[in-house]
Amino acid sequence: MIPVCRHCSKAKVNRPRGLCWSCYYAPGVKDQYPSTSKYARRGEGNFNGNAPNAPEPTMAAPGTPEKMAVLELRAKMKQALWHPLDARFPNDPRTAAALNQMRLALAS
Ligand SMILES: [Zn+2]
Repeated sequence: MIPVCRHCSKAKVNRPRGLCWSCYYAPGVKDQYPSTSKYARRGEGNFNGNAPNAPEPTMAAPGTPEKMAVLELRAKMKQALWHPLDARFPNDPRTAAALNQMRLALAS
């Protein structure tokens, strides 16, 4: 059985993503169908160049689920994953001091 195009359901599939030739190359159609390839890029992707730092360092210690959540959020916001003042161990006083200073600066 020859699979039929996921978009027009008429032509047979001969392009990636389960699309026929004309749907695959029609503007905007391809983007509506995620890749079906097991080699495709998934997740937030990667990008080149220098990303801006996150506005604040995190107190979450390396390797903790909290830190993973912070990294995920930064990736989503296209920020640098690592802030120079991120905590390097639980309750890093350097990070706490930096955060305190930022809060004071905002309050004044
Ligand atoms: Zn089609």
